[in-house]
Amino acid sequence: MDKPVVPAVDPIELAFALASAGPICDRCLGRRLAGLGSGLLNQERGQALRAASGASAAAHEATCWVCQGTFLRAGEWAGKAVQLVGDHEFSTFLFGVRLTPRQEAVEEYLDERFPSPWAEPFKRDLNRALGKAFEWALAEWGRAAAVDFARPDVQFTVDLESGRIELVVAPVFFYGRYRKLARGIPQTHWPCRSCHGRGCASCGGTGKQYPISVEELVLPAFLAATGGTGGHLHGAGREDIDARMLGRGRPFVVEVKEPRRRTIDLAAVAEEIHRSAEGKVEVLDLRPGDPDLVAQVKEEHADKRYRARVELGEPVSGEALARALAALVGEVEQRTPVRVRHRRADLVRRRRVHEARGELLSPTAAEVEVLCQGGLYVKELVSGDGGATQPNLASLLGVPAKVVELDVLDVLNGL
Ligand SMILES: [Zn+2]
Ligand SMILES: [Zn+2]
Repeated sequence: MDKPVVPAVDPIELAFALASAGPICDRCLGRRLAGLGSGLLNQERGQALRAASGASAAAHEATCWVCQGTFLRAGEWAGKAVQLVGDHEFSTFLFGVRLTPRQEAVEEYLDERFPSPWAEPFKRDLNRALGKAFEWALAEWGRAAAVDFARPDVQFTVDLESGRIELVVAPVFFYGRYRKLARGIPQTHWPCRSCHGRGCASCGGTGKQYPISVEELVLPAFLAATGGTGGHLHGAGREDIDARMLGRGRPFVVEVKEPRRRTIDLAAVAEEIHRSAEGKVEVLDLRPGDPDLVAQVKEEHADKRYRARVELGEPVSGEALARALAALVGEVEQRTPVRVRHRRADLVRRRRVHEARGELLSPTAAEVEVLCQGGLYVKELVSGDGGATQPNLASLLGVPAKVVELDVLDVLNGL
């Protein structure tokens, strides 16, 4: 049987000792025994304990040696916070405080000299007081917001030493899928290979290797709608620059930093993207997202369906092509392709080809469709990459084979 828990400290004796140690307000007294009597404010608890213990009268907060009137300034800080946050849209918030060195020392001293199993940290009490005061201050402006400990839209930190408040506006996230209808467009911007982004003759001073990216076609409309200061497009993997992304498109998450607006007209955003992208990129399924989506979208496990135009070094028969494609289904061992070995780890991957089919367009040209695990390099599955991919279409056919056009038809993740 469990032993009954006998508190080592008698709350009435503790309250008396605290109240006798120096002028202390009811709030600070009650906070040291906050675990007792639920539903009471710290002030009310302090008042009751003081009366029950027969201790001397309460000090006003301004003369309390523990808080020194800090809580009296909550309204002032709340007012500053409302000004600081200005016209940023938010529905959740959180306050934090940095204590002064004196305040830290007082907490330590109390824990040592008046240990209490019921004590609430000074910071938590103050954060709550600031949150309440902030809600009232907001209400005066006809606004409302709720505390969120996990993911507040805006977060204030009050520095008690300097009296300053800092504001951090959380990024906002949107989910969507993009279709890339033109070739030669990277997913995100690439710095020029010659000048590494500074601008030179070979990039015409732009600092970019490619004139435009999917990110640059998609992000501006989100920035304009949210009033954010910057952002990112996180793709669920990426297709080659010269490959199109067709079908239902590739999932992505747009992250916008320091947004002024968090709820935006996504249909209007899509329209603006389509207008400015002039047929190069389309977006579908836009909806509000959250930070977890970035990791989910970045998981590389999604199966992909590709369509490739393949050039063959020598004529082959339709029968030979069908046999070779059938033999391609199964496990593939693929060493990191030569063309990306300078920027990707050199290792051997095992990936599955689920389906492979195709037809001859001429004796030396074929259209091939492959459904495979994410992370498989399809160009090398066709060419063999000098034997670095096994099996491969070229060696199964016994003739050189090369992808001349690649389209991603589908990204089959659950999002
Ligand atoms: Zn106090
Ligand atoms: Zn350059």
